[in-house]
Amino acid sequence: GRPAQREFDYFKLSLQWPGTFCHRTRHCCSKNACCRGSNAPTEFTIHGLWPDYNDGTWPACCTRSNFDEKEISSLTDALEKYWPSLSCDSPSTCHGTRGSFWAHEWEKHGTCSAPVVRDEYSYFLTTLNIYFKYNVTLKFYCMNNQSLTRFMAVSKVLNEVGYVPSNTEKYPLGGIVSAIENAFHATPFIVCSRGEVEELHLCFYKDFKPRDCVIGSIIQNIYSSRSSCPKYVSLPLYSFG
Ligand code: 5GP
Ligand code: 5GP
Repeated sequence: GRPAQREFDYFKLSLQWPGTFCHRTRHCCSKNACCRGSNAPTEFTIHGLWPDYNDGTWPACCTRSNFDEKEISSLTDALEKYWPSLSCDSPSTCHGTRGSFWAHEWEKHGTCSAPVVRDEYSYFLTTLNIYFKYNVTLKFYCMNNQSLTRFMAVSKVLNEVGYVPSNTEKYPLGGIVSAIENAFHATPFIVCSRGEVEELHLCFYKDFKPRDCVIGSIIQNIYSSRSSCPKYVSLPLYSFG
């Protein structure tokens, strides 16, 4: 049989910017989230919690644990809101069938997060908890360095420094990275699609303390040729009509 995959090194919380996702794909509405109208998310939403290796690779599809929606029935209200699917696609699962966005994330990534996260319910609960802790209540330290801390979402952290979602403005990628670094105290990684911010990755040690998102020993950032982002990027809104 296939050798068991070795234990992962760190977690990557992958967040998506709905405006860009909605712009680039044929999008559909899920129960409580839609690209347009009053159900359009106004924050980064969750893509997944991904166990990764320090060398830039990652394990996938680690056990034969099939997704079971019943196991997370107590979390679905929160998941519909903060981890919605905005795509019309039914992604493939690890076993050749098609399933929901949640089924895909659990089977592909969640099953590789042992021994830290051991079952489906813990995977979704843990992901929501770190999202609440670091996105919705990201600590923001004031410029005057007083120990005053305010709690706000990543998008608010960006708004504070003038990076307001817009279909016409472009902002320096380095400025966005620094604003998040100042609040998160570790270096994030940003993925772009056609010059728009598509994903924000926040990385964590196995005890969920923030760490830099790195590949090998190189901070994969603005200076890396692997970055998909230009020097100036946009944070588009949802309506393009
Ligand atoms: P893309 O090619 O769109 O960047 O990524 C496609 C898929 O590959 C992602 O949805 C995710 O499942 C996986 N993937 C991409 N980058 C990473 C990563 O850095 N870590 C992990 N664990 N998976 C990734
Ligand atoms: P990954 O990129 O994690 O390997 O794959 C994500 C899969 O889930 C893709 O097949 C994608 O079409 C599907 N999907 C369904 N809803 C969403 C969504 O809201 N965002 C993203 N990124 N993928 C979604």
